Amino acid sequence: MDIKNNLRMLQESVAEACREKNRKPEDVNIVAVTKYVSVETALKAAEAGVVHFGENRLEGLIEKKKHLPEHVIWHFIGSLQTRKVKDVLPHADYIHSLDRLSLAEEIQKRADRTVSCFVQVNISGEESKHGLNVKEVMDFVDKLSKLDRIKVAGLMTMAPFTEDDEEIRRVFSELKKLQKTVQERNLPHAPCAELSMGMSNDFKIAVEEGATYIRIGSSLVGNEKEEVS
Ligand SMILES: *Cc1c(COP(=O)(O)O)cnc(C)c1O
Repeated sequence: MDIKNNLRMLQESVAEACREKNRKPEDVNIVAVTKYVSVETALKAAEAGVVHFGENRLEGLIEKKKHLPEHVIWHFIGSLQTRKVKDVLPHADYIHSLDRLSLAEEIQKRADRTVSCFVQVNISGEESKHGLNVKEVMDFVDKLSKLDRIKVAGLMTMAPFTEDDEEIRRVFSELKKLQKTVQERNLPHAPCAELSMGMSNDFKIAVEEGATYIRIGSSLVGNEKEEVS
């Protein structure tokens, strides 16, 4: 894996998608997803200049964080079990998988700071996917106003398993629409300015549709375990 080169190509694709849509490339943050790679590989990404890193397991998060530079910003991107919240919180700057009230309440109970969270939305409605249904999001965000340790930084989604780019685009654009609707309500606890969407295979569509955080694993740092997500 030539991570420097991968990063350069990724940045070029992001810049191109931004040009097409009149967006600023600096508004798109690349999160290197290191769940399938070693500490050494993750370090190479940090050396290449990546600042945001994502892990989907507590163990991976702790291990990588121990070895990567202090300035790295950590994103917890996986589904989060309630009982793991207290261990994840000290290590994660962002949680991308807030998908139920019981999880929010546990974060509220355990946090000693305001925690920036993305509300995960299951736009495609696939049963295998985590996240709230579109219709549930507003009510959920309203309920979070009582939990002063939670800030709704934005919304997150995963694209459906399909080769159909137009279907993927519809999902991303629907998340964008929903994000605007929340944002326009000007809720102090829910600025909701960010959109976490797009992975190795679909980040370009995601950037075109407004992503501000793209979560890139295999095409940036590779997959040393050859597992499927
Ligand atoms: C693994 C994973 C990614 C990265 O996937 P790639 O296809 O390897 O880029 C992004 N987001 C989440 C939630 C993941 O679990």
